[in-house]
Amino acid sequence: MANRGEPSFRQSVDMMFNRAVSVMDLSPGLEEKIRVCNSTYTVRFGVRLRGGIHTFTGYRSVHSEHMEPVKGGIRFATSVNQDEVEALAALMTYKCALVETPFGGSKGGLCIDPRAWEEHEMELITRRFAYELIKRDLINPAQNVPAPDMGTGEREMAWIVDQYKRMNTTDINGAACVTGKPLNAGGIAGRVEATGRGVQYALREFCRHPKDMEAARLSGTLDGKRVVVQGLGNVGYHAALFLSIEDGARITGIIERDGALVNPNGMNVQAVRDWLSEHSGVKGCPEGTYVEDGSKVLEEDCDILVPAALEGVINLDNVKNIKASLIIEAANGPITAGADEILREKGTIIIPDMYANAGGVTVSYFEWVKNLSHIRFGRMQRRQEESRHQLLIDELERLSADKGLGWTLSPGFKEQYLRGAGELELVRSGLDDTMRAAYQSISEIWHSRNDVPDMRMAAYIVAIDRVAKSYRSKGL
Ligand code: NAD
Repeated sequence: MANRGEPSFRQSVDMMFNRAVSVMDLSPGLEEKIRVCNSTYTVRFGVRLRGGIHTFTGYRSVHSEHMEPVKGGIRFATSVNQDEVEALAALMTYKCALVETPFGGSKGGLCIDPRAWEEHEMELITRRFAYELIKRDLINPAQNVPAPDMGTGEREMAWIVDQYKRMNTTDINGAACVTGKPLNAGGIAGRVEATGRGVQYALREFCRHPKDMEAARLSGTLDGKRVVVQGLGNVGYHAALFLSIEDGARITGIIERDGALVNPNGMNVQAVRDWLSEHSGVKGCPEGTYVEDGSKVLEEDCDILVPAALEGVINLDNVKNIKASLIIEAANGPITAGADEILREKGTIIIPDMYANAGGVTVSYFEWVKNLSHIRFGRMQRRQEESRHQLLIDELERLSADKGLGWTLSPGFKEQYLRGAGELELVRSGLDDTMRAAYQSISEIWHSRNDVPDMRMAAYIVAIDRVAKSYRSKGL
């Protein structure tokens, strides 16, 4: 996507890393150790399909094993290549450190157009790819735990966990070999929506900091803010849906593969998503005016721009025309290093990918813990919590009746207060807490140091410092 003269995705990530370490006190050796990708395994395998043998190329990169297992999604797309997988693996290392999930960084990819194959064919291909990775411990609950990414979802994760269990029949922790599974295959409530939900929580936290809002030339809450979203897939759809129906934001632009929709009054995100699923594109959807050159809509006037599709979409070719004063990187690496520099000069505030889309890995962590503990969150406490709340309500009502106080509880309060937290409530609470805590750690560095002018640099510093401490304590 990026301009041909620009650095590659991995070089962009390295440049952002180098910017951060230039103001840190790390030895050159440790700096190098953290920056480099430890290993990349490339596999080419054949699958008999449609009367012939088709060869596919896949990768699994391990960026850093300062903590194990290493974690990172598996992407299915034709654009997958070693450079991209290594860049994404590096981002995973920093992301996991930033949100304090106890993992190293990894990433996988298969060079394939998933829309070109039938479901049963995709199953054969995914199982074969999984087999190649499992037999080398590149999928393993203790060593390397993938998750969904672009082009993959619950369906692929269910095939992968089943493949692992077939090959490791006595591993009692087998379900923890991959996250993002469907609930009936060991998944966790709230994982599918988690990355989009995390984007929403990140924006809410941003709005709680009036000075940061001011820097982005914004004020107030998300209510009424004009939002343009690129990519109405897992991340973009959930982020846009929650921002519009729960926070009152107006989704004024939606960019997809075949073009974009614009509507200054805001669109019904669910209606656009339903149209997209049915017609494989947004063209013709009555929610907005169709624009054939979708990428032009990135340049629309709006308050918040949410690139949630792929990397390098904001680059030296279009950066000068970007009008949003706040960009939240829901996708990984949507802004090239060159464009990043120009946006910073323009005063655009960028909420960086390693923080913005960390909701996915955060809830993946909860799922992994659930699988290892073999029990659903909330199962032991929920009813006990409810009965304690019931005791309090009974006592208040008894006091009111005995003393003739005539107290009545607000409508809906009793029902809400009595309800103990189930898995979904706990997952959301844990995610919200994580997003807030990570924001605070970024904010602390961003606002306390004159040599740290932006959020991305602050996020890298927090993450690299944690990885460095981990390496140091291991005696490296
Ligand atoms: P997805 O495959 O579910 O959705 C991607 C969407 O982008 C699709 O709707 C696709 O049609 C659209 N798209 C593709 N090319 C486009 C183009 N050129 N212009 C406009 N739209 C285009 O993928 P996803 O899981 O939502 O991932 C999106 C991004 O978020 C990726 O960068 C991924 O690495 C990142 N991410 C995903 C997760 C996760 O949990 N799924 C977690 C962290 C980060």
